[in-house]
Amino acid sequence: MISVIVIGAGAGGMMSAIISAREGKHVLLLEKLPKIGAKLKATGGGRCNLTNTLSNEEFIASFGREGRFMSHAIDRFNAQKLQLFFKEIGVETHIPDGFRVFPVGHNSSTIINALRAEMDRLDIEVLCSQKVTKLLYEDKKIRGVSIKPSVPMMQKSLYRENCNIENFYADKVIIATGGMGYPVLGAEGDGYSLAQSVGHTTTTLYPAMMPLKTKERWVENCRADTIAKVELRVDIKKYKKLHAKGDLIFTKNGIRGPVVLDFSREITPLLSKMDEVPLIMNLTKGMNEEQIRIHFKKELQKNQNHTTLSLVETLLPTAISIELCHLAKATTESTLGKLSPQAKDKLIKLLAWTPLTINGHDGFKMAMITRGGIPLKEIDHKTMQSKIIKGLYFCGEVMNLDGPCGGYNLQWSFASGHLAGSFYV
Ligand SMILES: Cc1cc2nc3c(=O)[nH]c(=O)nc-3n(C[C@H](O)[C@H](O)[C@H](O)COP(=O)(O)OP(=O)(O)OC[C@H]3O[C@@H](n4cnc5c(N)ncnc54)[C@H](O)[C@@H]3O)c2cc1C
Repeated sequence: MISVIVIGAGAGGMMSAIISAREGKHVLLLEKLPKIGAKLKATGGGRCNLTNTLSNEEFIASFGREGRFMSHAIDRFNAQKLQLFFKEIGVETHIPDGFRVFPVGHNSSTIINALRAEMDRLDIEVLCSQKVTKLLYEDKKIRGVSIKPSVPMMQKSLYRENCNIENFYADKVIIATGGMGYPVLGAEGDGYSLAQSVGHTTTTLYPAMMPLKTKERWVENCRADTIAKVELRVDIKKYKKLHAKGDLIFTKNGIRGPVVLDFSREITPLLSKMDEVPLIMNLTKGMNEEQIRIHFKKELQKNQNHTTLSLVETLLPTAISIELCHLAKATTESTLGKLSPQAKDKLIKLLAWTPLTINGHDGFKMAMITRGGIPLKEIDHKTMQSKIIKGLYFCGEVMNLDGPCGGYNLQWSFASGHLAGSFYV
């Protein structure tokens, strides 16, 4: 008899399947793609940033107010326990920058292969190319799932007794279907409709962790430039608390890079309310106007032949220096002293805070994560069980929790999968 059906072979799904099987349960893992772990393979640019070195408290706080929901799951299965888990199944991890944890060898396939080997060792039945289309339930209790195979199923004896071709039956079903981002990697939002079909709701969903498009065309001329420690702020009084810091890269039509990935989760909800979101960015590693003035003075003492451009270049790469001079209407070849006081002032102001207008993005197609999901108040945080349907559980990104860049989202998927899979909580 199947005891547990897991829908989706991503980080959360595979972890929950392994934990259930380690507790002696017969587990069936259904995956709609031809292979397991498609998104996991793509993580961290194929290097898989599994987790990070934050304490449990810091980790939880990074998810904002909703983060408290994860305290039980993280207390049971935090970053150290995740690393130990992988060590036990043959994957050594390391922390090259002192913060982000990767498998040694920086290859996400080692993670997938190890999870696959552990699932085989535990006799977990994994059926790929099988899309779950319906939840079966009765008297507010889960009974099983219906599937739509895209390739014929292997007829295994285990299933004969509890399947009738398209239905599988179990008293515990775990929805581990992910969010909506990068739909080519499998997560297309099926979990939301499955949950809604049995009475759950879904919050508004926004694409997050993605590049952003800008109204300003000058960014295109700075394409090759990566600027370290950029601070981004929303330039709207009501939202002025929203800010982020990190490396930024200019693109053909906007901005990308770690700071943009993190900040996009704040911007996409705003863009759904307004056509444009004005930002200001500090490209000069936090220098304010006064500090920039002092810096210029010192540079001029060292070299009196500095042009306006060569002075700005002491702070920024050439392409962006040229663009900022243009924006300030400052002639690049003249000396700073020859600039009109207005142009000099404008240039210094622009170096302290450069305005930029966000006016679009590529939607879920390019979103690494989804903001929103099954409301946390509909799920028991101590078990990950639905408060609406007995025996129905959730794990991973399908729930309304999303974290920043840096191993937060995988750690959450693994930890919630660990809790959802366990019968002893
Ligand atoms: C390009 C990219 C890079 C990323 N890098 C990182 C990183 O380095 N570190 C980090 O922490 N996070 C990273 N993330 C985010 C992280 O990958 C996700 O948050 C995490 O994988 C979510 O895990 P999950 O198990 O909830 O869902 P997923 O990994 O999305 O797995 C869901 C699975 O369910 C299957 N499925 C969906 N519907 C059905 C259905 N109806 N029937 C059967 N199967 C179904 C899907 O095919 C999929 O395999 C990255 C995301 C992307 C897109």
